[in-house]
Amino acid sequence: MDSMQAYQMLEWGRPPEYREVPVPEPKAGQLLVKMAGAGLCHTDLTIIHSPAGFWPDPPFTLGHENAGWVAKMGPDVSGFQEGDGVLISAMYFCNYCDKCARGLHEQCRNIGLPGYGVGYDGGLAEYILVEAKHAVQLGTLNPVEAAPLADAAATSYHAVKLMMPQLVPGSSAVVIGVGGLGAYAVQYLKQLTAARIIAVDTVDDRLSNAKRLGADEAFISDGDTAEKIQDLTQGGADAVFDFVGNTPTLTTGLSSLSQGARLVVAGIGGGEVPMGWERISMNAGFINTRGFNLPDLNEIVALAREGRIEMAATHFAFDAIETGLDALESASVAGRAVVTFS
Ligand code: NAD
Ligand code: ZN
Repeated sequence: MDSMQAYQMLEWGRPPEYREVPVPEPKAGQLLVKMAGAGLCHTDLTIIHSPAGFWPDPPFTLGHENAGWVAKMGPDVSGFQEGDGVLISAMYFCNYCDKCARGLHEQCRNIGLPGYGVGYDGGLAEYILVEAKHAVQLGTLNPVEAAPLADAAATSYHAVKLMMPQLVPGSSAVVIGVGGLGAYAVQYLKQLTAARIIAVDTVDDRLSNAKRLGADEAFISDGDTAEKIQDLTQGGADAVFDFVGNTPTLTTGLSSLSQGARLVVAGIGGGEVPMGWERISMNAGFINTRGFNLPDLNEIVALAREGRIEMAATHFAFDAIETGLDALESASVAGRAVVTFS
């Protein structure tokens, strides 16, 4: 096969389109992967609606939450065979700078913002070309089910892991926005920490799902949320994870911190809050978190293999990507929206 369909960003301010493009040829160190599942992420919506200037410029194929089967290997690739099920890291990293050497692939000095589906061609296509160093063997895991591990499950794991030493018995953690990333965060908090878990969202179904996954308290997010959290925790939470990142949620987050707590922001909601010594809780901190590293990815693959995380999803056919994006945007999708390929 020489050509394939790809769902591409072509220009800022213009909706993505299906296009016929050549099937890429893997070069040294690369794999050609036949796509099995591609999770749709709120970041895709942000990219689609973005003006020029922040993200790497199009054209590129969307889709950064990818898993599939190795179809072809470039020269000098070892550790893979045709047919292997692989997860493709949404984070693109060089693997040789000092940050990567320390396992901090999310801070790679040589890459920055670009990644698969964001500058480099992503997985909303029949095939994706990847660097073998960005692929993780899935073993017995089904790539269709595993796709959300490539970003939603990994980014939320990284955020929770940053705070694990503080989430001891008696502590509390708030998750703002329990959609894709947030629903995973609730599961990690439940399984890996002793914190009391408080979930907030604007959608009832999301809250009942968070309760089912282990949240101790769950309520609708509004102007009184910080006050409710202060009451429930008798003086503020030890960690607040914001998976929305707009001005109201950042404001709620900062106002919900106890002394020494951290607001961990992964949501790309364009919000702004005034900051300064007098404005936030004493000894508190703000962590701007992006992505995850290879150790994180291996750890969540292990959790998934052991059946310890739920990877709920609603499937959308490749020609129904827009229906999936609409369901994601209206927060009506059950679990992650995952595009499947025939
Ligand atoms: P999602 O749409 O699946 O979930 C977002 C949830 O937030 C939904 O349940 C929605 O109802 C809820 N919500 C919306 N407004 C709210 C408010 N004011 N208060 C409380 N809850 C509210 O999105 P997702 O795919 O899980 O992504 C979450 C965020 O994380 C997005 O901003 C996305 O761009 C970002 N993201 C960041 C990284 C990173 O590396 N930092 C990686 C992936 C995604
Ligand atoms: Zn994403």
